[in-house]
Amino acid sequence: MEKEKILNLTALELAKAIREQKVTSEEAVTAVFEKIDKNECNVHAYLSFWREEALDLARKCDEMVSESQDISALPPLLGVPVAVKDNLLLCGKKTTCGSKMLEEYIPPFSATCVEKLQKAGAVIIGKTNMDEFGMGASTEHSYFGATRHPMDPQRVPGGSSGGSSAAVAYGAAFASLGTDTGGSIRQPASFSGLVGLRPTYGSVSRHGLVAFASSMDVCGPITRGTADAAALFNIVNGRDPKDQTSISAPKVDISEMENYSVKGKLIGVPKQLQNEGSSGKVLREAMAFFTENGATVEEIDMPVLDFSVAIYYILSSAEASANLSRYDGIRYGYRASDVADVSELYTKTRSEGFGKEVKRRILLGNYVLSSEHFNDCFRQAERARDMVKEAFSDAFSKYDLLLSPVAPGAAPLLGEIDKDPLSSYIADLCTVPASLAGIPAISVPFGKDEETGLPVGIQLMGPAFGEQEILGASRFLEKRSGFYTGKEKGVEA
Ligand code: GLN
Repeated sequence: MEKEKILNLTALELAKAIREQKVTSEEAVTAVFEKIDKNECNVHAYLSFWREEALDLARKCDEMVSESQDISALPPLLGVPVAVKDNLLLCGKKTTCGSKMLEEYIPPFSATCVEKLQKAGAVIIGKTNMDEFGMGASTEHSYFGATRHPMDPQRVPGGSSGGSSAAVAYGAAFASLGTDTGGSIRQPASFSGLVGLRPTYGSVSRHGLVAFASSMDVCGPITRGTADAAALFNIVNGRDPKDQTSISAPKVDISEMENYSVKGKLIGVPKQLQNEGSSGKVLREAMAFFTENGATVEEIDMPVLDFSVAIYYILSSAEASANLSRYDGIRYGYRASDVADVSELYTKTRSEGFGKEVKRRILLGNYVLSSEHFNDCFRQAERARDMVKEAFSDAFSKYDLLLSPVAPGAAPLLGEIDKDPLSSYIADLCTVPASLAGIPAISVPFGKDEETGLPVGIQLMGPAFGEQEILGASRFLEKRSGFYTGKEKGVEA
């Protein structure tokens, strides 16, 4: 198969082609590294990759295929090159979280989800760039420099899993793992015309995911299609004794997804999440699409969602300030030199090791947790979060799905988001509600921004463990909308 043809496959299509010996894993890995050689210097999706090791592993996969008596028994992603975000531990490989603090950190074990991906036969080729510790929505807040949008280098790919989305979008991986605390899988997926699934909280183990806000952090797939998203979700999910908040979640039946119809479904569109920008227009088109296909689409009033950005930033910053207190220059990570005593060691290490955005979150977190503000900020936000959860459970007692934009529009210009942190926080309005409620949400490509021609996604939210429903509806959308972006890559060959 020609290289460009290989690179146009989805992860599942490639896995099948490898099993059927139409392509070798070695060819696929080689094709991916050719893309990397050509375009990585403009995109900067990766923080590290390992060519020879990946090729060795690919050859082993090819041997497994040629020696197999029963190809249906081979692991589902055997030989498929994938990338993982650099806040997911991979034993023996640097895991920096996009931070100077962990610039030299090499973990002695792997995250459970990464291990599962390896067991599924995937060839992990590298670790992807991200906003430092996952804080941001543009991948500009990486200590190692920004990732650029693969379709327009003047723009950001979204964040914080911007490296993971950019890699898949420009053909430098067939699928990737990202993490989503308040939208970091869904936003970059939306900007790059990919599918990004934030699974139900707890359905994927957090063991080995470097913590940002533990009550909301989830690992999930960024892929070229809904079937890939379901396949990766099925691989990484499940109860893990190493994460006491993990839970065994139902697997998604991929063939069932094909039979899904929106006919007769009741779909709610929260009033509070609508906007006038290009994503508002795409939302209206999606509403029309669902109606034309036999669903009933209704606007729904969820007043508490007006407060979701405030609730999210209070709670996530509080958790971040606690989680990041471990970086003290003593246990692991960066350590400042020329210090007189331990107190100066802490101060200097943290002042030099953390970037601006991380410091802003730590300050905000300490403020809301201080004895003076604990009750009026932190406690109130916790109560309000319960109200968000209730609002969603009420909504799902009536509606099968909720529909909303993902972000205000298409990918912003470099520097645009960073000008004013508050407006970047507000841009998270549509993604943080699902994070607060712990429910699954997915971004699926559905339109284009008229001005820039860049992709715009649509978000579907479902009740906890409703992955089958949201993936089914996404598949329905994908089949009919013509935005099957596995076939549509960014950077020119
Ligand atoms: N943009 C959000 C934030 O900065 C979400 C980040 C995330 O999901 N990791 O907190």
